[in-house]
Amino acid sequence: MIDEELWRTGIAALAREYGALSPTLRERVVDLAAQVREAKQAIHDCVATVNACGICADCGGECCARGKNHVTVIDLLVYQVEGRELVSPRFDHDLCPYLGENGCQMAPSYRPFTCIIFNCDRVEGLMAPAEKDRFYKAEHRLRAVYGEFEKLFGKRFMAGLLITCERDLVRQGATLLGMGSSGTKEN
Ligand code: SF4
Ligand code: SF4
Repeated sequence: MIDEELWRTGIAALAREYGALSPTLRERVVDLAAQVREAKQAIHDCVATVNACGICADCGGECCARGKNHVTVIDLLVYQVEGRELVSPRFDHDLCPYLGENGCQMAPSYRPFTCIIFNCDRVEGLMAPAEKDRFYKAEHRLRAVYGEFEKLFGKRFMAGLLITCERDLVRQGATLLGMGSSGTKEN
């Protein structure tokens, strides 16, 4: 499958699998998704104090050249939980498919884990020690919530959606979340 097909297949599977979760599991996912959003926003608020958006706009998004596999099942599950409209990736160029005319198409609190926690020296070098401390505490919280998702589903999620889709759905005929069609754990 080409990337565009993997994306479409993965998104459809995630919607289906999320819809099939038991009410208890879904409640927990909704709670964790809110924690992901809160921690990502807290991380972004720290870099906003040094005008990271302006610095990144001047730089032109050097670190966004290769983001194709940064978007994970968990990042997309947050969209799913909120019924939020997804971005439209472009797989017809060499840059990150989620990069738009004005930078990342995803709002900071929805950006992939790998992207939201990364700062180059141009940004980090301007942050005051107290701000850095807040940043690393929020990163620690975010990492812990991703860990909770992995415990909940008994599965690692740090590979990108396209990789997970190809490996689990296409090659193994399994599911993205590691659940059976009845919303229970696959073995
Ligand atoms: S984090 Fe650094 S490398 Fe990445 S876009 Fe911003 S200024 Fe550029
Ligand atoms: S997903 Fe967004 S922040 Fe991450 S590399 Fe792509 S454009 Fe950059």
